[in-house]
Formats: sequence, structure tokens, C-alpha cells
Amino acid sequence: MVGPGGDLVTLLGGLGGPPARPGTVHLVGGGPGDPGLLTLRAAVLLSTCDVVLYDRLSPPEVLDLVPDQAERLMVGKRYAETGMPRAEVDALMASRAVQGKAVVRLKGGDPFVFGRGSEEAESLHLAGIPFEVVSGVTSAVAVPAAAGIPVTHRGLSAGFAVVTGHEDPDKRTGHVDYTTLGRFPGTLVLLMGVNHLAEITDQLIAHGRDPDEPAAIVQWGTTPRQASLRATVATIADAVAVAGIRSPAITVIGAVAGLSEVLAWREQRPLHGLRVLVPRSREQASMLSMRIRSLGGEAVEAPTIEIRPGDRSAMDVAVEDLASGAYAAIALTSPNGVDALADAIDRVGLDGRALAGAGLVACVGPGTAARLWERLRVHADLVPPVSTTAALGQAWPEAPSHEFADRAVEVEVEGAGPAVLLPRADLATDQLVHALRHKGWDAVRVDAYVTAAPDDFPAGVADALAEGSIDLIAFASSSTVRNFVALLDGRDWHGRIVSIGPVTSATCMELGLPVAVEADPHTLDGLADALVAAAALRDAT
Ligand code: SAH
Repeated sequence: MVGPGGDLVTLLGGLGGPPARPGTVHLVGGGPGDPGLLTLRAAVLLSTCDVVLYDRLSPPEVLDLVPDQAERLMVGKRYAETGMPRAEVDALMASRAVQGKAVVRLKGGDPFVFGRGSEEAESLHLAGIPFEVVSGVTSAVAVPAAAGIPVTHRGLSAGFAVVTGHEDPDKRTGHVDYTTLGRFPGTLVLLMGVNHLAEITDQLIAHGRDPDEPAAIVQWGTTPRQASLRATVATIADAVAVAGIRSPAITVIGAVAGLSEVLAWREQRPLHGLRVLVPRSREQASMLSMRIRSLGGEAVEAPTIEIRPGDRSAMDVAVEDLASGAYAAIALTSPNGVDALADAIDRVGLDGRALAGAGLVACVGPGTAARLWERLRVHADLVPPVSTTAALGQAWPEAPSHEFADRAVEVEVEGAGPAVLLPRADLATDQLVHALRHKGWDAVRVDAYVTAAPDDFPAGVADALAEGSIDLIAFASSSTVRNFVALLDGRDWHGRIVSIGPVTSATCMELGLPVAVEADPHTLDGLADALVAAAALRDAT
């Protein structure tokens, strides 16, 4: 996770430029939909602004970069072509900038391609407000590409024209010159105007385009909702009407639209078109959501657990003891535990060497081990083959009491045997403590963090669950299952459940949730594979 915006500026080593500037409006292109196609500059500005004005084509995920305390203003209606009148948007931007706020005006694609960004820039110039234009990846090129259509091609198309389809071609007032477009020797890329497609293609044919020339349309390109179809200039309008394709969509006319659909890689990814609910803790880095997106799915995140710091002073004392060699070993059972440990190490002014005295550093699974490396640059000595606390207990060595005993005696620790530091959640079971005691170690539990349930699902998630628009639900822990059921509070839900491993599955079963597929190995990668398997189940039925 990126955290406060300043981090991103540093993380990018300055490649994304300086933070958003107070009193300035940054006209930022948000790219075509896939958040990965955002520019570095856009990411830095979003993560450091005070105010963001966005509209319906701004990729929603990129708003996650905006700091929590920043003001978010939706200035375009979600499902209508028109939003707030432009004069009002201009006035809003200007007033915030005059107040000294660092303003981002986020637009879909590139701000100067039909986004009216140039008009907004002119109005800022007239008002004497400093502005910056940040180009974005335009949908005019990226959306056809996502459906396997290159806008130029050696031998097929020596150029392309990006044209608005917004104007009704039957009105004589328009600026689109069909006489020229009818003869244009290259690819035509039509933005907007899905509703006028029949009139547009009629005009193009009337002005000289071959009715059999290939044509394609791509809806919601570069996103998990992408859908495309191919036809000819003469047939595309009807095909679009039959398929029910609506805005936002791009129509491509030209030989390149006839290239094999094999290149439509995006729609062939295993989770394409599926919505996966990811109930997770709010602070947890959403590695799983990333995996889901890279597999083509839409990750719908629903925080079901909030992680709050546990007993800070107890953690600080534990870390000081650790640094003085009081603990012969440390067992980390979650990335949150690692975070709590690393935060405490920071607080008391130490670094990774605090763990030097622990002869054994164990992590429950690869995710926790990765976090340990990321935060403290320490490698785990022991990671059990299966990522459960039970497996960790099993893999734990018998206490080499003679070797370690004298290190532990200096500090007051209860019980016998070398001491093991266990920074855990307040809810954690005692299972591991017992397993370690059994092997001759003295496990010392410290409440590293506490978990609490939020009041409800994020807006829209309960409805999506009830109406069946969630295809898969991915549970990565038992506590998430419990909190999910609590949040559901008896409401209706649909979706195929995938669990990370046997413990989580058992909790699902206990609470009456049928598990479709259980991951093996019990890791986030395993869970991602299990989602793919569950998606295939869907196809089979
Ligand atoms: N400035 C934007 C275009 C704004 S006009 C850019 O450079 O991309 C809005 C039109 O862009 C939509 O009506 C649609 O034709 C097209 N568009 C934008 N994003 C799209 C997407 N993800 N899929 C298909 N069409 C898209």
C-alpha cells in the first residue's frame, strides 16, 4: 500500500514529479479505464491533492490514490451524457484554487481529446489561475488495442482519424465532414454517439466507404467489463442494437477491424467479465485484488475487518526486550503482526537489528514472510509448507533448551524454556501457544493489533450480493468469514465461495456458507488459482 501521498513521490524516485501544487489546477488525464494505464504524474498528483473533481469516465479505482481527507467532487452524472454545466465546473475549480487548494481535475483518457479539457484550460487562463495539463492514454487508441485492434498497421492502414460520433449527421450544422471521411484512406475511430451509429454508417457508405469494410465496436474497453463485437460498416449498427451495446463505446472502421480476434487478449483472461467480492481488512494491502484484476476480473472490495493498533506500550516493551536478546525466537502469524512489530521498532528508534538476537524467525506463510522482508529486510528462517498456525506449530523445532536457556534467563519471562515472542491479534487462539509450550518453548503473547467489524458493507455491495451481480466471493481468513456473515445480517446473497484453506472452509461450513473451491496451496496465489477454477465451474454448469 502506498500510504500518504508523499510516499508515492519518494517511491517513484521523483519520476512522477513534485506533489500537487497549492493554488493550482492540474488537468489530469485518467487513462481509458485500466488503472494500470494511469501516468506516473497523474498518480503523484492524485495522491497529493486537496480536491479532486471527477466524472463518470474517470476510472473509479484511481480515486483510491486520493488522500482520505481530500474533497471528492463528482461533476458528471454517472449514466447521462451531460453532467454539471461547464461554467459551474469552471467556477468550482477556480474557487478551490483561489482558496489555496491543490486541485486535480480528473478526466477520462486524455484531457485534450474530446474531454473539453482545452475549454477548461482556457477558462483557467482567463481567470488567472495557474494550471498544468497532464496528458493521459487516450481511449481512442487504447480501447481498440485492448480488443486486439491496432489503429495503424503496415499494409492495412497508414493512418487513423479520431472523430466524434456525438453530432447527429442528419443535422447540417455539424463539423464532421462525411465527404472527407468517406474517402479517408485509413482507420476511422469514432468516439461517442453509439445512438447515432446507423445514421453515421449510412452517411459513410453514401460518401464512398465500402459497405463490406470491417467494423468493430468496443464497450468499456480496458476494464473487466470490456465487450466487443466485429461486423462490417453495413451491419455494425444492427449488431450493436441486438447485442445491447451502449456508451461508453468506440467504433473502429477499417481493415484493421477485420484482424483476427485472437489478439483480443483482454477478453480471453480467465476471470474476464466476473465480479469478485474481496472481503478484507481495510488496511491490508490488496494483493489479492491486484491478482484478480490481472486475471481480468473486477475486484469489489468490502472491508469486513478494521485493524486497529493493539497495546502499543506492550509492543514497545516487547521490542526493547527483543533487542536486548530476551527472546530466542519470534513467530509472526500475519502481515498485520509484522506491521505492528515494524511500527514498534520504528517508535522505539531501532531497526531490523532488533531481531538479531532471535535465533529463529518464523512466519506462518509466504505473505507474512514477504511483509517481513519488505518492512525490516529480515528473511524468515521457518515458513511451514501449509500456511496455518497449526502447521507452524508442527514445523516448530523442539527447544534446544541448553543452547538458548541462558539467553532467556536475564529477563523475566514466565514459564520454562527459551522465550518466543508472539505478536498477535487480540482474538487469536491459544493453539500456537500450546503447541510451542509442548515443544519446550515459552510463548509470550503480545496484543499487536485488535480487529473490529465496520458498521456495514460499502455502498452498493449489499445490493450487488442480493441481485446476483457478484459472481465469486474470496475468503482469505476465518475472521473475514465471520465478519462477512455479521455484516450480511441475514440479507440475501448470491455468489460462489472460494476459501484460502481448510480452517477458513471450516468456518464457512459452520456458518452455513457452501465452499465451491478451496485453495491449495493456502496462499493468495493459491486463492487466485482457486478463483479461476471456480470460474470454470460456472462455465460448466
Ligand atoms: N478524453 C477521452 C474521451 C472523452 S469522450 C479520451 O481521451 O479517451 C468520451 C468517449 O470516449 C465515450 O463516449 C467513448 O466513446 C470513449 N471512451 C472513453 N473511455 C472508454 C472505454 N473505456 N471504452 C470505450 N469507450 C470509451
